[in-house]
Amino acid sequence: PSIAVGMGTCGIGSGAAEVYAAFKKEMESRNLHVSLRSVGCFGCCSEEPLVSLYLPAKPLVWLSKVEVADVPLILDSLAEGEYFKPKALCKITEWDHHLAFHPYGEGFEELMHWHEVPFFHAQKKLVLRDAGLIDPANIAEYVAVGGYRSLEKVIGGMSRSEVLAEVKDSKLRGRGGAGFSTGMKWELMAKEPGDSKFLLCNADEGDPGAYMNRNEMESDPHMLIEGMAIAGYATGAQEGIVYVRAEYPLAVDRLRVAIDQAYQMGLLGDDILGRRFSFNLSVVEGAGAFVCGEETALIASLEGKAGRARVKPPFPSQKGFLGRPTTINNLETWCNIPLIIGKGSAWFARIGNPASPGTKVFSLVGKVKNTGLVELPLGEKLTTLIYEAGGGSVNVNKKIKAVQSGGPSGGCIPARLFGSSIDYESLGALGAIMGSGGMVVMDSDNCMVDSARYFLEFTTKESCGTCTPCREGLSQALALVSGICEGEGKEEDLQTLKELGLHISDTALCGLGQSAMNPVLTTLNYFSEEYESHIKRHK
Ligand code: SF4
Repeated sequence: PSIAVGMGTCGIGSGAAEVYAAFKKEMESRNLHVSLRSVGCFGCCSEEPLVSLYLPAKPLVWLSKVEVADVPLILDSLAEGEYFKPKALCKITEWDHHLAFHPYGEGFEELMHWHEVPFFHAQKKLVLRDAGLIDPANIAEYVAVGGYRSLEKVIGGMSRSEVLAEVKDSKLRGRGGAGFSTGMKWELMAKEPGDSKFLLCNADEGDPGAYMNRNEMESDPHMLIEGMAIAGYATGAQEGIVYVRAEYPLAVDRLRVAIDQAYQMGLLGDDILGRRFSFNLSVVEGAGAFVCGEETALIASLEGKAGRARVKPPFPSQKGFLGRPTTINNLETWCNIPLIIGKGSAWFARIGNPASPGTKVFSLVGKVKNTGLVELPLGEKLTTLIYEAGGGSVNVNKKIKAVQSGGPSGGCIPARLFGSSIDYESLGALGAIMGSGGMVVMDSDNCMVDSARYFLEFTTKESCGTCTPCREGLSQALALVSGICEGEGKEEDLQTLKELGLHISDTALCGLGQSAMNPVLTTLNYFSEEYESHIKRHK
């Protein structure tokens, strides 16, 4: 038998480290020979601490909201050869309290019986396939579930152009929000002359309420390493850097441990897997500027300059880090690569929406019952995310009013439009963006004007100041929205805000400024009555 405790940041924040220590102590005092493992987060963050029990020849069982006091009871039940004693241990009310899965070690198989649990019902775990199941600090566990086989496959028997074609045919689009074709991006750089090229991973996840990338690094760091090494082979880049926000110390630690292990196993460095192919990978911690999620600002920051965006062209694929051809992808984009290579582009292209195949991981937070990470095929409805996975409003007396999709520069979508699909084009048509996957749910207690002010305040502070529309325009817009919130607004301010918003979106230099007015424009569009009532109330 074995016991695994979910030790992501969410689990640790809910007391998982104390539960782990209690297991260790109790097992030592009972002289029990049960393996105790530390795993990442399984996604259902509101149910942490999560403990999974593995009994020989039996399905995997999970217990949620485990406390230190539960530990002796769990060990008693294991000693009796049972899974657990539901009445004594289970804290879950809304959820079905036990889940059964394929026995550990069977590869990239889907979970069994997850239909029993609404949170997982519509989920398709590709990027999160091993999160919460394997020990992120143990490369052998990643290898046991099929890890690094895709790297072996490309180095051992595929030409560079075959790998590029496979990624292009998969129609994978960037998961950082812009949705550009990953295969085309790689191909552009691969065509550039010279041997000195770079791959960068954007893990500078700075959106309030978004933590997909943090979990992916904490729970399964080797899939990122494998994805980047495959891209190194395909594009001719021999150097990669993961740019992680410094506020993610656990993710940084786990990533560094994983990189060290990959070097020790000959999966990074020179002559990888005995072939004439070299790829080196390192981690750099960002200094916390939101704008460094923009690719040219990220490059400037890596070069030791102030994190400011610059005019394109030249594009990074032509002139990027240190003036060399560079490909930047979001962390989740890289994590899809081993699966695409392993299972083939045709398999991947069949999942989700034909124009946006695959899945997307969302961090679902705010006024829903179940908060956590939800991985859905692209093209699923917002209703599935919010009412099915999220379980609807956390407060039975309050109605869900809207969701802010795509972080602080995303848009506010009203509940009446939750029948819309979650994909790049559909969210764009609503005035929102997919962004990197943050979804903040709001209910009738939330004032939409206050919410718009909150997000605008964030982007105004984070503006790098390079271009006038963003630097000056956002401050002026914030002054107008703040005036409305504080009872000093005038009717004509609403028209001014709309015009200012469209002007900033059209003329700002980078994505931050171009999208910063989305929360204001969408709330003005869908919740104009709340602005008007603020103004009338104070007349
Ligand atoms: Fe800087 Fe804003 Fe201009 Fe981007 S849009 S370059 S963040 S001032």
